[in-house]
Amino acid sequence: MSESKDFLRTIVEEDLQAGKYNEIVTRFPPEPNGFPHIGHAKSIVINFGIARDYKGHCNLRMDDTNPTTEDTRYVEALKDAVEWLGFQWEGNVRYTSDYFPELYEYAKQLIRMGKAYVDSLTEEEIREYRGTVTEPGRRSVYAQRSVEENLDLLERMKNGEFKDGEHVLRAKIDMGAANMKMRDPLLYRIRHAHHYRTGDAWNIYPMYDYGHCISDYLEGVTHSICTLEFENNRDIYDWVLDTLGLKNPRPYQYEFARLGINYTVMSKRKLLELVNEGYVNGWDDPRMPTIAGLRRRGYTPESILSFCHQIGIAKANSMVDVAQLEFCIRDDLNTKVPRVMCVLDPLKVTIENYEGSEELDASYYPEDVPKEGSRKLPFSREIYIERDDFSENPPAGFYRLTPKQPVRLKHAYIITCKEVIKDDLGNIMEIIATYHPDSKSGSDTSGIKVKSAIQWVEAATAKTVEVRLYDRLYSCEVPEGVEDLNPDSLKIIKNALVEPTLITEKPDVRFQFERHGYFYADPIDYTDEAPVFNKIVGLKDSWNKKVKEGDVVAKPEHKATEKKIQIDGEVAPMNEVEQTRFNKYTNELKLNSEVSNTLARDEKLSSFYEAAVAVNHNPITIANIVANEVARELKEKKIDELKFTPEQIAELVKMIDDEIISNKIAKQVFEEMVQSGENPSKIVEAQGLVQISDPAVIMPIIDDVMAKNPDNVEKYKAGNTKLFGFFVGQVLKATGGKANPQIVNVLVTQKLQ
Ligand code: ATP
Ligand code: MG
Repeated sequence: MSESKDFLRTIVEEDLQAGKYNEIVTRFPPEPNGFPHIGHAKSIVINFGIARDYKGHCNLRMDDTNPTTEDTRYVEALKDAVEWLGFQWEGNVRYTSDYFPELYEYAKQLIRMGKAYVDSLTEEEIREYRGTVTEPGRRSVYAQRSVEENLDLLERMKNGEFKDGEHVLRAKIDMGAANMKMRDPLLYRIRHAHHYRTGDAWNIYPMYDYGHCISDYLEGVTHSICTLEFENNRDIYDWVLDTLGLKNPRPYQYEFARLGINYTVMSKRKLLELVNEGYVNGWDDPRMPTIAGLRRRGYTPESILSFCHQIGIAKANSMVDVAQLEFCIRDDLNTKVPRVMCVLDPLKVTIENYEGSEELDASYYPEDVPKEGSRKLPFSREIYIERDDFSENPPAGFYRLTPKQPVRLKHAYIITCKEVIKDDLGNIMEIIATYHPDSKSGSDTSGIKVKSAIQWVEAATAKTVEVRLYDRLYSCEVPEGVEDLNPDSLKIIKNALVEPTLITEKPDVRFQFERHGYFYADPIDYTDEAPVFNKIVGLKDSWNKKVKEGDVVAKPEHKATEKKIQIDGEVAPMNEVEQTRFNKYTNELKLNSEVSNTLARDEKLSSFYEAAVAVNHNPITIANIVANEVARELKEKKIDELKFTPEQIAELVKMIDDEIISNKIAKQVFEEMVQSGENPSKIVEAQGLVQISDPAVIMPIIDDVMAKNPDNVEKYKAGNTKLFGFFVGQVLKATGGKANPQIVNVLVTQKLQ
């Protein structure tokens, strides 16, 4: 795949033509403080891609100048990501920490040139002296120190004679510069911290602006490509190299737009919070936008490369639709993977007029995919179909099996429903059907018209598998934090059934499960005895559908071009009762259309829901619990098997309303109710789960967290306000999630002032 020419490649070509460099050298310089994400993939593709296209090379450099947050685990994850995407760095992995001795020598050189000085103002004074965008700054009195004094102080700083923050080394540039970054920027700060590579050898660490340009120079980098937020730092980059007279080849910095994707968070700090607070199962959780997560989900390197290629390289920040990423993986897998059958929610069908058994020829690929391959599908009188592919009282536009409407079993015969067998409570237990012997796929002479073909598996040979249905991690387009997490981002189905060849012949590790989407054999948890499949992506963009569902309902689709969608019959219109409920839920009770849809279409759920709302009128919170937690339980159990009642759910929600427990603890209580059927208030009391709102109790915990993290406190006070969430998170964690988050927020704010 050849990239179309972007502004970076234009610059590189001009430089080559002008003979500015013999060889193009780029670098990918991550800070090893988290797992790389899809944004890093963009940077990898740009840096390694340009080096490859112009026959140069690209270095992988760990920018490890912050001793407190870095870890070799992250180094490994970064190496994995680059290799998985198909790139190879030049020589060994580089580390900024390997250049600490050179950086130190250059610093002494700047001092000797009168271009750097040790400043002893406090952090606060430094900030104050810096001035504002409209007012120039003032230079510190310490700037007048002699070269000898500066050299002596720097050496003693390095040797650990001073405390953190007591002195810093600054460049002497211009306290009146319009670019505030140029007002005597910091070059070194004191940090008495153990570094994961250099140990305790150094008590000073270079700042990004000082370390980065010299590292680029030392490696012979020609084009130092970074994201737009470093635009103002470019002046320092140039100042350091030019002041030191470093040439041949002299690197230059260029900036491109950082990748942002909707429904996704990309900051490593927020991703770390998801991991540390247990909102996901680790950095490689298939819902994470990390390379490790996408990889475990089943994304291919090709799909990520194709995505990076499609979004291009621009100079203006913009937001990319996550649907585009999903499109890329669908597009890649469409021509690659076999189509097989999986039934997620099995309903038994007995074909009473079928005797014996046979093996049916079934191609793995549809006609429009130029690949060969087929398997033998065992067929006999007992099979399973998808529960919702049968409807006793079908709404208009239902194209699958009904008591009156036959349906085709994919690759097999047409069947007609003869009888519906139910249990005492009216749940459908089994369908008795007949098949039409002359309707076999490929040689159908029956003349029977059907409107769709559905998937099925033979009962005797089907294998039970676990299917993990992943969806977007956030339900909000521009997520801020954990409050925007999608509660339905993971559904686990323990007893799905697949055709036997998937396990025994293993035609691939990625499959299309007909009508469900693309799936991947989980690379960690899958075994032949207990197979696990991850949903990579659905067959089409279901999010658009979900949003529109509210207005699509009740109208059958007309457009001939959407025939395929009709056959799949996925958007079943609602019947009148369901529609009335739906309208009430959205209009009167103000539920969102997704939750309304779930409740309205399910008789059991909606009556459970309404019973709970009758006791405690908090329709929204109750709806969320019923549509998610209760619905999950009702998938596996019948209503009279549930140990908890609508009244108890109402009581649980009342405890949230009254701020006795947090939402998070409510989930924990619910799990207990599922097991024991105990009243929520009893559970809360017995397990000591009452929310802690008393500042007198919370404050010492905050003090403790601050005492354990002095560096972060200092960073926060130095202006890194992003650390606020870190403190709140730590306090919540220390209380096992019991502290009242609002109160913790207020108290942490007070404390940090
Ligand atoms: P974060 O803010 O997520 O922690 P970062 O910029 O601190 O990211 P680094 O490890 O310092 O992460 O980044 C390594 C390289 O990857 C840098 O060159 C950076 O510009 C680039 N990069 C990081 N995030 C993105 C992104 N979203 N889009 C494009 N490039 C990115
Ligand atoms: Mg960074």
